[in-house]
Amino acid sequence: MERFLSSVPCRCLFAAGLLLAASLLLISSTGCSPNPPTTLSVEVTPNRFRVDDESHLLFRIQVKQGKLSTGSRISLALPGSWAWHTIRPTRREDGKLGPTLRVPSQELLEYFALLPAETADQWELEVLDEHHDGTYHRFDRRLVLTCLANELPASQVVTLRYGSGARPIRTSRLAETVRIPVRFDPGDGQWRELDDPPRLTTVAGSFHTILVTADSVGTVGQPVDVHVTARDRLGNSAELPSGLELRSSDPGMEPVSLDAEGAVWTGQARFTTPGFQTLEVGNGAVGFHRSNPVRVTEEEAPLRLYWGDLHSHSTMSKDALGVDPFTFARDQANLDFFASSEHSSGDRRDEGITDPEWQSIQASVRSFYEPGRFVTLLGYECSLPAPFGHHNVYFADDSAPLYRRQEVKTLDELWRRLSSHRAFTVPHHTGVHWAASVWDRDHPLRPLFEIFSVHGQSELFEPEHPLSYDQLVGMAPYGTYPIGSELVPEEHRGMVPISNSARGPHYARDAWAAGLKLGTIAASDDHTARPGQPYWGLAAVWAERLDRETIYQALAKRQTYATTGQRIYLDFRINGGMPGTRVTAGGPPRIELEVHGTDDIAWVELVAFDRDRGGYSLVKRWTPRGSRLRVSLTDGGYSDRAFYYVRVRQRGLVEHRAVMAWSSPIWIDSGP
Ligand SMILES: [Zn+2]
Ligand SMILES: [Zn+2]
Repeated sequence: MERFLSSVPCRCLFAAGLLLAASLLLISSTGCSPNPPTTLSVEVTPNRFRVDDESHLLFRIQVKQGKLSTGSRISLALPGSWAWHTIRPTRREDGKLGPTLRVPSQELLEYFALLPAETADQWELEVLDEHHDGTYHRFDRRLVLTCLANELPASQVVTLRYGSGARPIRTSRLAETVRIPVRFDPGDGQWRELDDPPRLTTVAGSFHTILVTADSVGTVGQPVDVHVTARDRLGNSAELPSGLELRSSDPGMEPVSLDAEGAVWTGQARFTTPGFQTLEVGNGAVGFHRSNPVRVTEEEAPLRLYWGDLHSHSTMSKDALGVDPFTFARDQANLDFFASSEHSSGDRRDEGITDPEWQSIQASVRSFYEPGRFVTLLGYECSLPAPFGHHNVYFADDSAPLYRRQEVKTLDELWRRLSSHRAFTVPHHTGVHWAASVWDRDHPLRPLFEIFSVHGQSELFEPEHPLSYDQLVGMAPYGTYPIGSELVPEEHRGMVPISNSARGPHYARDAWAAGLKLGTIAASDDHTARPGQPYWGLAAVWAERLDRETIYQALAKRQTYATTGQRIYLDFRINGGMPGTRVTAGGPPRIELEVHGTDDIAWVELVAFDRDRGGYSLVKRWTPRGSRLRVSLTDGGYSDRAFYYVRVRQRGLVEHRAVMAWSSPIWIDSGP
């Protein structure tokens, strides 16, 4: 890797290859010589912002005691959520985007200035894409000031301005409080950590929508949990508007006013009337926002429907931001089950999840687990290149080891190591051109397929599909946005999507056609520690109860379906058999299907795969009025169907995205 600055007295830490960009800026002062002990204070103003706003930062650096001499260095670590917007990724010499960023110094000069201006020339500034410890991080930025001449004595202040009126920075898109770790080296080559680093707080934008979720299955007279929260337009939890009312489609339920304060309201509803019921929360000013459908039965149903997100990243991952996805998953997204899936691999020298990080993931899996309310699974992501593809790993117990990417180079090797555990793996975004999976065989450790995520749909090669990778603008780490969305920053609009669809047999349909017995789930693959968003993919699981063992087994048995994030009710049976199973059919199978959308349904398709023909056919397509379809039919065209599955499309969009659901297949044994 190249270095762009040779004048820096780089006695440590400036690892080759990590250097990003640089320019000379400076400070003035007077004569440098070591004079310990030196203490420093660094304050930042302003320090409280609205998300995704234009602003600037002033880092006020003051020597409290001693002085900074020639060769002294001050290092500020900007978290990725604050650095990502501000320095535009430029093209590398090989024509690809980042991760090595090279910013023209003129551009940097517009961002950075040292004040007072006469302090220039004695300081040099580097901008590196790395952590304080020198390990590369593609979104984080480390600003290193080096004293080239003179010194900064006690009480003198130098101010580093980041962003100007002419070229403001954008504040973080995440509602969060972040530390800006600061280190300094007074000239002896040893870094000291500042005990009290500055902090930046971003608060959510104004209310954009209300999300109402309720248990998908309920019993007359029994309590059903209801969860109400609000989001800003960037997916942050926002304050609920005041004066909200909760009302129901159930004629036996009186409207109640919600005593909501803050960002979340939870309560219970008791339905009196069997059938599908919904709840609505709102008022005249903000409109009414409908919940998912709740199937209410007289007798308690043998299986309940649970919702989870098994694919989520936070700042522990090389390409992600944010902290504490477990709290967001439980309290903001109201998920029933959740797994974080940080990358076991890092970039370049970075090892991926560290031992302390793995221990902290295990600790969260244990401490957040609350049977009956919130099931956590231990997992991580093993991103293998093509032809293996990215697979997430999930364990039945909470203390399994992490198999690092460096020791696991192939899928066989991963499965070999996992064979001594209760574990399974789930391939995802299998058709993206940079990680396309190839289906060589079925494997007991691979029961499920992630058919949709923030990247797009992996059902089949169809670049024009509104949910294909190609139609969603990749805006890592913030996920994807539909082409043309005003949420894509201007400098990103001209970028090509990060994920194009690879032509070839890399998709769910190809895997099923090749004989792989894969159930469907969807997941967010969120990279901002905010899983469970209503437009990025959810897994639905049919299970008797909500505890880790039951959910694990239901997943492993493929009692699942996938949605793009909406809690669509989808019950699909053949001869009484559940999705994910194999049923015997001596003759034309009996198909029963019940769908209730969160909006009007555009169509429901029953798709089959024929053994003889080796191809897919559309058995039937329904275009019901309204949000519900209930049908049963005998497939008269049945002769040698290998399996069936169901796909659903709703009419309306959610945040400009199409809304879909995909059942797991039901496989058919022809019988004697
Ligand atoms: Zn991946
Ligand atoms: Zn991922």
